[in-house]
Amino acid sequence: MGTYTIAVLPGDGIGPEVIEQAVQVLQAVANHYGHNFIMTQALVGLAAIEAEGEAISDVTMELCQQSNAVLFGAVGGGARFEGPNSKTQPENALYRLRKELVLFANLRPVRLFQALLNASTIKPEVLQGTDLLIVRELTGGLYYGKPSEIHETPQGADAIDTLVYTEAEIERILRTAFELARGRRKKVTSVDKANMLSSSRLWRRIADRVAADYPDVSLEHLLVDSCAMFLLRRPASFDVIVTENMFGDILTDEASMLAGSMGMLPSASLGTRQTEYGVFGLYEPIHGSAPRAVGQDRANPIAAILSAAMLLQYSLGLKEEAKAIESAVEHVIEAGCRTPDVQEVGKKVVGTKEMGGLIAETI
Ligand code: NAD
Repeated sequence: MGTYTIAVLPGDGIGPEVIEQAVQVLQAVANHYGHNFIMTQALVGLAAIEAEGEAISDVTMELCQQSNAVLFGAVGGGARFEGPNSKTQPENALYRLRKELVLFANLRPVRLFQALLNASTIKPEVLQGTDLLIVRELTGGLYYGKPSEIHETPQGADAIDTLVYTEAEIERILRTAFELARGRRKKVTSVDKANMLSSSRLWRRIADRVAADYPDVSLEHLLVDSCAMFLLRRPASFDVIVTENMFGDILTDEASMLAGSMGMLPSASLGTRQTEYGVFGLYEPIHGSAPRAVGQDRANPIAAILSAAMLLQYSLGLKEEAKAIESAVEHVIEAGCRTPDVQEVGKKVVGTKEMGGLIAETI
């Protein structure tokens, strides 16, 4: 029994629809185990721009700082791109949260539910045994480097982005990956582009150095292009994959298809601050706001619900409760219920609300 504070930021598009279900499941956990989850909602993204003039306000930042964890939906409205540093770009909410809360380690587990083996576009015999964790560096690299701008010149426009990493940034994410591998199958695949990029050559050098402190964990290096290919050819061979920000962004979307849909994959972004129960973090489905699916009750809420399970595990130290959510999800899938994105012949198609309700009931 305990009292825990959670900032809930549903955001835009399908964000509020899937977060509503995750909150319902957290409430079911609280009722069953006798916990008190104090969940405080605030606006982010387009909704915040419209109501408060910026993608995330200082007051909402403060709410997150003061909470044990943050549950986040998705932000973005599709077409408008003004660059992540613009306060009226919805994605600025995420970039600000990640940077100011120092959420440097993004964990994206790709675990297959046996009952969904046929829901993926990849052959079941290739998928069998896949259970991997992608550890993506989240606060450095191309998405934060300066300068990042477009110049209009008499000869035509040019544009520049900057890919910069410090030794300390690389070392801390690699150590996170090695530590996590110790609790798993003790294999780290470090992904870079060392044949082309200086930042990758530094990354590889530090990976070799850090590996020496973890003699019980094996290290393989892969170029990012090879990794993209091997994820489809031999996904079960991976345990922990660690990589820089943009490579991780792209590889995790690819890896989500192993699990059948973006709607199945949760994530945790862990910071450096310890709370009284664990490490402070932000938890969100890996998918975006899916503007075209809004209001149709067809978004898969499982990624958001599994993100809530990760929140319980890492930030609140409630491992049994986290397991209860994962088991409830597995149970409902095995019972044959599917949202449209993982629909299969002979299975019962349910909407966002029904799927969330079934999982909450199972808890
Ligand atoms: P998206 O993840 O929103 O959608 C990609 C595809 O996956 C779409 O076909 C969508 O219908 C489907 N999909 C996504 N989530 C689903 C779910 N839960 N259930 C069923 N199907 C699901 O990516 P996009 O279309 O490239 O981007 C839309 C907007 O979201 C953009 O504004 C983008 O910037 C933003 N975005 C936000 C985040 C975030 O908030 N973390 C992440 C990615 C994209």
